Amino acid sequence: MSACPRCGTEVSNPNKTWSMIGRANKTDKEIELTLGFFMCPECEKRFLSVLEKQIEKGTFKGVVEEIKGIERGFTQTLDDLREKLEKLKNERAELLEEIEELKRTGETKASTLEEEIASLREEVDSLKEMLDDNDE
Ligand SMILES: [Zn+2]
Repeated sequence: MSACPRCGTEVSNPNKTWSMIGRANKTDKEIELTLGFFMCPECEKRFLSVLEKQIEKGTFKGVVEEIKGIERGFTQTLDDLREKLEKLKNERAELLEEIEELKRTGETKASTLEEEIASLREEVDSLKEMLDDNDE
């Protein structure tokens, strides 16, 4: 509903409507305007009227930048995680290597001890034999 600027008659339906996107000054926000083209049935005055004004929340460019920012943050997080995982993998490999080495060292020590025990046992046996011989 728009009023004729000449005679003030309320004109309910526009002959034609269309939308256009404008930019609000200073704010960088986009405004979508819906315009109506009217013709007054009383005086036949043709006039334009703004039927709807809708301010877009942020510009398209702003939204794209925002998404890019989120993407950058996400990539950063992924990179960090990848780096952390890589470090952990390396650490794990180092630990496994260390464990292998300790096992090898342990095995060597164990076999050395076994040999020592065996030779001590032999000594004990020969000592026992000697003592037995003396008892007779
Ligand atoms: Zn009129």
